[in-house]
Amino acid sequence: MHGSDEIASRLGAVRDEIAAAEAAFDRPSGAVTLVAVSKTKPQSDVLAAYAAGQRVFGENRVQEGLQKFDPLRASLPDLVLHLIGPLQTNKVADAVRTFEVIETVDRLKLAESLAQAWRQPGVRLKSCFIQVNTGAEPQKAGILPHEADDFIATCRDRLGLPVVGLMCIPPVEDEPALHFAFLKAMALRHGLRALSMGMSGDYRLAIQQGATHVRIGSAIFGDRVRAEADPAA
Ligand SMILES: *Cc1c(COP(=O)(O)O)cnc(C)c1O
Repeated sequence: MHGSDEIASRLGAVRDEIAAAEAAFDRPSGAVTLVAVSKTKPQSDVLAAYAAGQRVFGENRVQEGLQKFDPLRASLPDLVLHLIGPLQTNKVADAVRTFEVIETVDRLKLAESLAQAWRQPGVRLKSCFIQVNTGAEPQKAGILPHEADDFIATCRDRLGLPVVGLMCIPPVEDEPALHFAFLKAMALRHGLRALSMGMSGDYRLAIQQGATHVRIGSAIFGDRVRAEADPAA
């Protein structure tokens, strides 16, 4: 199959799986947003997915997201871009102009910097997720579980950030369902409606546990070569 046909067909299969999981687990149809993770993939892959109806994309690096998507914005105004990788404070100004959604708010300094930046003119950012390091893994981004309740309240109430939900990446060696259920309970406690959880290998389970956003890369675009740059690998 030609590359763009292959992307369209994989995308169709993922959409069917999502719809089947919504039906199987009593979720309303359309409850789950597919974030197509195009990191390391060329613009042509994004265009192939767009032509097949995909509008929401995810990138894990600010610079890569900017270079790949900024040139497309004029002709494709309905694109929605999520940042799903760690954000350094020195990239915040670029990030709020590049991404509609930042899923990786995970520490006070970053939250304060975002709170300033997103009120500036010309900003794309509309909503944030708090990333929770549910497995308390030292090498992984995300606020630690025991600090999360305070941090969520600070982001929302003191800093006025547009927090809509929570995001997590479970440890590879753990049963992901436990992490998904933990994240859902935390979101309920705070009255947050959105839950970004589930990737190519576990999104059906995540939908069962209440995911509203699944972040899917390889099942749509194929395997990535640059595995060492991949925090979710
Ligand atoms: C790369 C990445 C994904 C997508 O992973 P796949 O296994 O290719 O679906 C999802 N979430 C985050 C945070 C990522 O970095």
